[in-house]
Amino acid sequence: MDLMLRDVLIIPKPDVSSIFRSNIIIEDNIISEISPQARMRDPEYIISGKSFVVLPPPINSHTHLPMTLLRGYSDNKPLLPWLEDVWKIEGKFNAKWIALGAKLACLEMIKAGSGGAADFYFHEGTITKVLEEAGIRGWLGSGILPSAFVDQGGYEFQLEEFERTIDLTKKSSLLTPSIAPHSQITVPEEYILKTADLAESHQIPIMIHASETRKEVMDSEEKYGVPPVERLEQIGFFREGTKEIVAHCTWITQREVEILGKYHATIGWCPVSAQKLAYGGVTPVPELRAAGAMVALGTDGTASNNTLDLWREMREAVNVVSAARWDPALYTAEHVLEDTNWSFRRNFHPQSLIEEGNQADFAVLDFNKPHLQPTHNVISNIVYAANGSDVHSLIVNGNLLMHDREVLTLNEAEILLEIEEKSKELF
Ligand SMILES: [Zn+2]
Repeated sequence: MDLMLRDVLIIPKPDVSSIFRSNIIIEDNIISEISPQARMRDPEYIISGKSFVVLPPPINSHTHLPMTLLRGYSDNKPLLPWLEDVWKIEGKFNAKWIALGAKLACLEMIKAGSGGAADFYFHEGTITKVLEEAGIRGWLGSGILPSAFVDQGGYEFQLEEFERTIDLTKKSSLLTPSIAPHSQITVPEEYILKTADLAESHQIPIMIHASETRKEVMDSEEKYGVPPVERLEQIGFFREGTKEIVAHCTWITQREVEILGKYHATIGWCPVSAQKLAYGGVTPVPELRAAGAMVALGTDGTASNNTLDLWREMREAVNVVSAARWDPALYTAEHVLEDTNWSFRRNFHPQSLIEEGNQADFAVLDFNKPHLQPTHNVISNIVYAANGSDVHSLIVNGNLLMHDREVLTLNEAEILLEIEEKSKELF
């Protein structure tokens, strides 16, 4: 697709001093030129205007896409009773429901200006096809949980689905397979090590949940004598050359911070979900960043958030650290923007950062709105005032997925109607 962005404000780095105004030319999916003099003959679309601000779209570091079907179904309960509600419905999920939930999630992500997601679920082969159609980037974590529900269940079945996802993503420039043992407390050691071997031999990322709640940490200490991240290191989960995405890390010790830093693990931090389910703790983000871990913001599933809007998540993230640590300078707007729009991309797909010759991924925000004026500091307005609905257009891998709020790859009206008609059957 040939596109031109004209006279827009560009944020090439999460640093307010790097911002400049320019034109951008996109040819055959690639950023061919960034310069105020750049011109293009007959682009398919021109996005032009002084009020537009462009930056790399956020990538969701941890979510469960098909759980959109459960949005608002169970609120104001602690983790275990909430999980019982959720499992009752998830037990009915087959490939058909998973495809429908993923479709709604992709539509929501495009409308909220997200460029991709690290998903953690079952039937990833089915989800692969939905992401491909939507045109967003995906890291597809095939869930491994030997005690899973009937339609997702059994290690052998889950492994077959993983192999299928590898085959389906082979030719894709958007999708990366991944393997996702649920957690060290729910999956036997034997399977955790088998999945770590698979990640190592296929050279793909591995995802896991760890230290989500204080109870999980206490259970691990009682059973194994050490907290979750420490045990993962003891059994050989972390490997040189394998990229781990460790979700939550709400309750971790300084020793565990250092382990995660040592292996440069990516932390799938989901502050809204942690607050909603009342986990009490706040992930020690400043310490993790200082130790060398890669903090990347995620939403978790929509049953515990209840949106996939990472622009809203940013505001909550920066505020919860300030509030919990009694220090508003410890984790700033620039830090959280880096952890939302740069950190995951830098670690997993740096060839889509804003640079000539790279794949073109852009979120275009429209600042011509009362809540985004005046513009003393563009990054401050994005973090503290913007929402996903301020994204005017979304470009991923050089393709325009949304233009002027209209989704071009999925049929919005049709999906919303299907959700309205069918989702009741589940409940
Ligand atoms: Zn999760």
